[in-house]
Parts: sequence; structure tokens; C-alpha cells
Amino acid sequence: MTEIRPVVSLRVSILRGVAGRCPRCGAGNLFHGFLRLAPGCTHCGLDFSFADAGDGPAVFVILFAGALVVGLALAVEVLYQPPLWLHALLWAPLIPLATLGPLRLIKGLLVALQYHHDAAEGRPQGRADR
Ligand SMILES: [Zn+2]
Repeated sequence: MTEIRPVVSLRVSILRGVAGRCPRCGAGNLFHGFLRLAPGCTHCGLDFSFADAGDGPAVFVILFAGALVVGLALAVEVLYQPPLWLHALLWAPLIPLATLGPLRLIKGLLVALQYHHDAAEGRPQGRADR
């Protein structure tokens, strides 16, 4: 059975994903907990089993947070040469903020884009599928 999808603009899909809302209706919660996806939408009943962001959110966050924290640490070191304890005091709180905060947003975004573009893993088609 083919699902009838409402026509939603890319902008709306992005906003729903970043807000952690259902990519189809925008009303139900996408997450059950901090990073775990809900099994489905409580509002429209969309099954979220299609969603598999994989390591994508972590990769984006690692690249972004790594560039931010290492860049700032290098700049502070070159400009001020603070002691190591001050580096630890500065960067230890920034690392969880720069990684955990965006992780949920990016995961929601990737799932919403996966739904918007109807992206799925490739599947071999055997005789039973024809
Ligand atoms: Zn929904």
C-alpha cells in the first residue's frame, strides 16, 4: 500500500525536524527521550521505523564542535598562553554544549529530510517483489 504524503515545502520539513516534530504532521513528537526516536507519531500515526540517521548527526557534530573548540583553544593559546588548568576550565564546559546541544537538532533535521526526500536504503529486488 502506498502512503499518501501531504505536500510540504523543504523549509517546513527542516523546521519540523529541527523542532523535533513529526515530519508528516508537525504536531507529534519525533523523540522519545533525548535522542531516542519515538516508535511513531502520536498525532497522525506515522511509523518512524523508516528513520535511520545512522552516524550522520554525530559526524556533523564532531566536525563542527572539533573545529570550534580546537580553533578557539589554539587562538587563546597563541594570543594569551594561559596555563593548562585555565584551558581545561575554559574548554571542558564548552565541549558538552557544542556537542550535545546540536546533536538532537541535527538528528531531527536528518530524519525530517529523509522523510521529505523519501530516502531509504537500497533494497535488492527479488522475484517476490515483482
Ligand atoms: Zn505526525
